[in-house]
Amino acid sequence: MSLDERLSGVRDRIAEASRLAGRDPGELTLVVVTKFQPIELIRDLQALGVRDFGESRHQEAREKADALGDDVTWHFVGQLQGKKARQVRDYAHVIHSVDRESLVQALASDELETDVFAQINLTDDPARGGVAPGSLMPLVDQILAAPGLRLRGVMAVPPLDEEPRRAYARLRGMSEAVRGRAPGADAISAGMSGDFAEAIAEGATHLRIGTAITGERPPRG
Ligand SMILES: *Cc1c(COP(=O)(O)O)cnc(C)c1O
Repeated sequence: MSLDERLSGVRDRIAEASRLAGRDPGELTLVVVTKFQPIELIRDLQALGVRDFGESRHQEAREKADALGDDVTWHFVGQLQGKKARQVRDYAHVIHSVDRESLVQALASDELETDVFAQINLTDDPARGGVAPGSLMPLVDQILAAPGLRLRGVMAVPPLDEEPRRAYARLRGMSEAVRGRAPGADAISAGMSGDFAEAIAEGATHLRIGTAITGERPPRG
């Protein structure tokens, strides 16, 4: 299958999942995750109309942002080290992985405006990234108080050992709690290659889809 065919196949499946959920596909943002993929593939996707790209490693993301110029919205979706945070803020328009106060402080700015998601850990393993659900509201308050950060909503990666639909239903409940505090923070970043239909059914607004569109990721050291 060609890139074009995989992309239109995913778009068709997004439209179908939206229809089943009684939702307007126009309210969904498809972020194509291009980590480990070459710049040429991003250019090919641009030619097919994609404007939102997701990356998870700072060095690689910066090289791609430098090479591709202005006509792209960059989404940083990976775990973010505090000491890299300011550099990521310089090119990323949206950061999906804000999960602790030290990152909020590092990203705050009087000059730049950055859209952020509060990443929630839906597992019991702290190494998976994301704030523990019990600490979500304090993190939300810190983001709301930080200059230069616009809270868009919540983000999560589903656990490996739970039905994605169930995990995304829990995420939706947490999104509702966040909206009680910050009505504008109504976005939900959820849904990957294997589970985006379930995420759409549970209210996802930002789908982060890689391999279903790009094909397998090339190995990289
Ligand atoms: C790699 C990645 C994705 C995309 O995963 P696929 O299974 O390739 O669709 C989505 N979200 C995050 C945080 C990722 O690191």
